[in-house]
Amino acid sequence: MVKRMLSEFESYDLLKQYGVPVPEHAIVKTPAEAGKTAEKIGFPVVMKIHSPQIVHKSDAGGVIVSISSKQAAEEAFDKIVSNAKAYNPDAEIKGVIVEQQAAPGLELIIGGKTDPAFGKVLTFGMGGTLVELMKDVTLRILPITEETIRQMIREIHGYPIIQGYRGSKPRDEETLVQIMWAINCFFAENTHVVEFDINPVRLYESGACIVDARIFVDDEAVEKVAKERPFVPVEYFTPRSIAVIGASSEPKKMGYAVMHNLLHFPGQLYPVNNKRPEVQGLKAYASILEIPNPVDMAVITVPAKHVPSVIEECGQKGVVMAVIITAGFKEMGEGGKALEDRVIEIAKRYGTRIIGPNCLGMIIPPKGIDTTYVHESPKPGNIAFISQSGAIVNTVVDWSIKQDIGFSAVVSVGNQADLNFIDYLRFVERDPKTKGIILYVEEIQDGKTFMKVVSEVAKTKPVVAIKAGSSVKGQAAASSHTGSLSGSYDVYMEAFRESGVIPVHTLSGTFQVAEMLATPKGYPRGKRAVVITNAGGFAVLSSDYAERYGIDLITLPPQVLKELNDLLPEFWNKNNPIDLLGDANEKRFEQTFSVLAKYQDCWDIAFVVGFPNLVIGSEQFANQIIRFSEKTENMIVGTLLGGDSMERGRKILKENGIPIFDELDFTFRVMGRILWQRFR
Ligand code: ADP
Ligand code: MG
Repeated sequence: MVKRMLSEFESYDLLKQYGVPVPEHAIVKTPAEAGKTAEKIGFPVVMKIHSPQIVHKSDAGGVIVSISSKQAAEEAFDKIVSNAKAYNPDAEIKGVIVEQQAAPGLELIIGGKTDPAFGKVLTFGMGGTLVELMKDVTLRILPITEETIRQMIREIHGYPIIQGYRGSKPRDEETLVQIMWAINCFFAENTHVVEFDINPVRLYESGACIVDARIFVDDEAVEKVAKERPFVPVEYFTPRSIAVIGASSEPKKMGYAVMHNLLHFPGQLYPVNNKRPEVQGLKAYASILEIPNPVDMAVITVPAKHVPSVIEECGQKGVVMAVIITAGFKEMGEGGKALEDRVIEIAKRYGTRIIGPNCLGMIIPPKGIDTTYVHESPKPGNIAFISQSGAIVNTVVDWSIKQDIGFSAVVSVGNQADLNFIDYLRFVERDPKTKGIILYVEEIQDGKTFMKVVSEVAKTKPVVAIKAGSSVKGQAAASSHTGSLSGSYDVYMEAFRESGVIPVHTLSGTFQVAEMLATPKGYPRGKRAVVITNAGGFAVLSSDYAERYGIDLITLPPQVLKELNDLLPEFWNKNNPIDLLGDANEKRFEQTFSVLAKYQDCWDIAFVVGFPNLVIGSEQFANQIIRFSEKTENMIVGTLLGGDSMERGRKILKENGIPIFDELDFTFRVMGRILWQRFR
């Protein structure tokens, strides 16, 4: 990439063409010229160094403001040049810029960068010299609309300052919208502009002016055009016959474990091993070509160097899907990459699709398919899990057994040499067993297509994602570049949000969210909530958590209050969270739920929070929650706090498809995540 920085001068001229207000300016080469030009522009002026090697002019002593006489301008010229030379003796000094001094104003930053996965991104935030400190920035992936720009402006923390804070006059928000729109057009239309940083933009009560601009261009930059491939037929993922190539009888070998996990497969299973006539009790074949019947899928565990010839045979045999578990491909560098390319080329010739290489393959529990070497196959269920890490698949599967979580599909994507996230998403989208989807993402290859596809998938099935790599390691932190203000992780988060994916930060969290959304009621229809509990302490905590995670606790309407007053003890708290008090029995819960169900139009979610006590057992509690849920269209979320005594209730709720948690903070955090994505 041949990236170069345009000078402030060139940047101003470019932006001016798009209608962005820039200060009057000129380049001068001598002190005398500086004096004359300053006089012509009108005092006060600002003078700045003009050198391709000096990115941050202030750091080099290359900016002098408030120059108010001809003589001062002449002196400033010499000062700036000598400072710059001292700062970087090798810097080529092309002259000094003299520019009109803009009046002080609210300093904002507008920036742009090109993300390797998602392409061009526009950023906006509070600017000036404290940008890195404040980190009050927001971003959007292009293309965007003017309405998006308005949202960006409103969502930074500093927005109240733009609106007029504590007696200060409101700023010209409309002009800001126009400038950001102009800058967005400039960025979108100029393919070779890969990054820029306008800091600061000064916003006034009327009008605005930019007083610095850095634009980076790459003449070789090309925009990636997103294009989706045809869907892989669902049948490819549900073979009737499977051959294990490299099947083994030696318990320490990969080919043993894979074979072992496939022994429960109800279709035809053929071990292929050129040294043994029998593997794990089944007749073995020396080559896949010797199997007398058709083979739909091949699972390959032989060493990498043999994989091309094995794939060739699979192709001849008419195998439609090959799962290459073997490692030693692209992840090993150039030699491995060449081998991988060869494998793909051969597979293409025969129309054989490839999962992996360097993966665990896939598990389809409802069909008894497990090509992996996980310790124990997971149970069937309604969650699909697509993971970029094999180790995480192993861990999650192990843990799911203990947690009683089942899967409709588990896929370890490996190197994604052929099939990738997009193909797997399309598969689980069409798979009737899948009700919720979890992604573990490290890096996405083609972000634009991913966004398009995942937003379609998310319309019918909830998609929850965990993204690895939130640390900003390796980012140039020293500059006021927008690149360092918003790392790649932030771009992923924005991409997820925009395409309807719910980002979650912990693995167990992703499962809680996915399970909750996979329940029959799915998503809540809004963020107005009520909390019903028998524990005063948890009522208070619920308010705290609701506020923290952006859940609106409604004010109970007078009619609801009245009806509750009629049935609750005189000293109930008359508020939301509704505290039914520690002596609340089944009947009190039932009556309260009836009132709430009757007025279900005034709320969207009910959080029912219970703790172990002798007045109401966990089973009775669960049954009341189920009846409540039957009486309303709205979402009911249970939180039964406590240890073993509450386990029975939690199990009943789970079996009845009601979201259930055992930790209060978590309940609200999970719901907050969902609401953030849906109703921000
Ligand atoms: P740097 O390369 O260090 O970012 P800038 O061009 O942003 O240099 O100048 C540093 C600071 O000087 C700006 O943040 C702004 O506060 C002030 N400044 C620069 N140019 C002007 C101008 N034309 N009018 C008013 N203030 C300016
Ligand atoms: Mg600047």
